[in-house]
Formats: sequence, structure tokens, C-alpha cells
Amino acid sequence: MLILETPEAGAIEGVGDIIKKVAESSGKGEDEIKKLIDEKQDELSGLVSEEGAAYIVARELGVNLLKATNRRLKVKNLIPGLRSVDLMARVVRVFEPREWSRGDKSGKVASVILGDDTGTIRLSLWNDEVKTVLTGAFVEGDTIKVSGGHVKMDNRGQPDLRLGRGSIEKVEDKSIELPMPDQISATSASQRRDIKDFKEGDYGECMAGLVQIFKRSRPFYEVCPQCGNRVAEKEGKYECQEHGQVEPDYRMVLSGVIDDGTANMRVVFFGETAEKVLGKSVKELRDDLSKGKNQEEIYEKCQSVGKDFMFKGRIKRNDLSGNLEMVANEVSDFDVKAEIRRLLEQVKN
Ligand SMILES: [Zn+2]
Repeated sequence: MLILETPEAGAIEGVGDIIKKVAESSGKGEDEIKKLIDEKQDELSGLVSEEGAAYIVARELGVNLLKATNRRLKVKNLIPGLRSVDLMARVVRVFEPREWSRGDKSGKVASVILGDDTGTIRLSLWNDEVKTVLTGAFVEGDTIKVSGGHVKMDNRGQPDLRLGRGSIEKVEDKSIELPMPDQISATSASQRRDIKDFKEGDYGECMAGLVQIFKRSRPFYEVCPQCGNRVAEKEGKYECQEHGQVEPDYRMVLSGVIDDGTANMRVVFFGETAEKVLGKSVKELRDDLSKGKNQEEIYEKCQSVGKDFMFKGRIKRNDLSGNLEMVANEVSDFDVKAEIRRLLEQVKN
């Protein structure tokens, strides 16, 4: 359950509370707000939790659920749609910045993994913000403070922290208690489990076989080439909320079933993960489909079906079926050496 500390208003607990507060402030009925939340979830293809959708709806109605002052959050509470985020966290990993270019626009983007005792989150730094990484302003193990950031949803349905007009700075105060990077990976929510033991909200990891890939109404969708957010079609044109009318890029989406012998589960793969599983780029898939090949034909030839992999991802409840499913954000070949190391660790403990 989502609990956010708000010094002024007390803790907001769950969607019911949010609906009440939004109803009070906006003058709309609770039923109407519930409907807006449902619609928002549909619009985002169920990639955002009910709480997440509720926050977005509140913001769209101009209701400020959270005062911007002194709102220091834990990593696990960072959900898409949150603004004015202050976070104190440990730098767990800094990735090399990479270049992006689309059309006549180009720039740099860098990912930094931040963590605390509740988990990890990616901070994306864009263009000029990348300088902070290049100049070595902070390195792994540093304590940093993010002020006035906001949280977006990335293409895998995961929260992604952005600076926007906010800032990031290194904190030298040794009295701040945060776990070190190696402890964070050990205590983070990701844990190997049997599929039968997965629970809603887990960030789970399992070793399982990919049993099947399903046909979908569309195995790709349109995204903004600049920010990667999903874009909606309006009369043949695509518009990003942030970047206006754009020529969209395409991202692959695949769904299938994994089975580890204890249970099976529906799994969804997005973007690069989907391309890795299929062994084709989204462009190749779209070319195949435009040449009249059907999805069943393509999936039948997919080398990944029938093979074992390590799957990592968020366990969520499918809104339509009511069943649990995994939104995978990592699929890796089964690493025998790593597996032996892991088992030895378990024996030792
Ligand atoms: Zn955009």
C-alpha cells in the first residue's frame, strides 16, 4: 500500500484517501473521480498502478495532494506522476552517457541508479544535465540529494526520476544513514523466487522456461522519439504531451507464458527486452508484418521459445483477467557460474 508522509495533511493512505481529498478540493463527485482514474489507467494500458493513476488525475484536476515543502520520500514511494520530489539516496551505479539523435535533434542521456533501504530507482539525466556525470560530480557510493525532481513512467512501466527544473547535489554529511551500494543490491526488492510464490507488487526474479509467445492485436506501439513516452494518435498525427507533434518511433511489445515447474505466469516484454526475446528489431518485425507474414508464423520460429532464462520484473495484477503477470525488464541467459555462486552463498548463510 502506498503511504506518503505529508506533514501538513497527514499520511495519505491508498486510493480511497486520494479520491476523498480530490473530491473535497475539486468539487467533483467521488464516482466521477473513480471513473477518471479508471480511464487514466486504460489510457496508460494498465502500466501504472491505481495509485499512480489517482495521482495523475489529481494533478490534472489541479489538486495538490502533496505540499512541496520538506517532502523527503523513500525510493519505494516514488511513483509516476509525482512532482516536487526531494530524495536523499546513495549512488549505486553510474552508467556512461550515451548519444541520442532523432531527425535534426540530438543530445546525451545518462542513467544513474539511486538506492536507499527500500529499493532502487533510475535517475535519467538529459542533455545539459549529463555534465554532472561527465565532470565526476558524484560517483558510486556518494550520498546525493535530489531537490524538486519529478517521476515519470518509463517504457517498461517503471518509475523514472527526472530533474527537470530540479537539482542534484552531493551531500558530505556523514551522519546520514544510508546503506552502501553493495548492501542495496543485496537488500533490494529483487529476489529469486518460485513463480508460485510471486506476490502482487514484488520485484521478482525467477529461472523459468519461455513456453509460448501470444499473438497480440498489435505487437508494437508508438512513442515520442525524444522522451520515449507513449504517444496517442489523433487524426493520423502523433502528439507528445511534452514535445508536441512528433514523427513517432515504434517500440515492440510481446506477451507470453513462462513456467518454472511450480506454476506458470503471463509475462510482458517491452522495447529492447522484447527485441532480445524475439531475436528481431522492431523494424524487422514491422517489415515482416508489412510483407504479409503473420505473427504466429514469426513466433513459431522464435529461438527463445522452449529455452530457459532468468526473468526479472515487476509482478502486477492484470486488470482484465485478474491474474498476476510479470512485466519483465530483464531477460538473461541462464548463467551456470553465477547460479553456483548463488547456491554456495545460500548454503553458507
Ligand atoms: Zn516527448
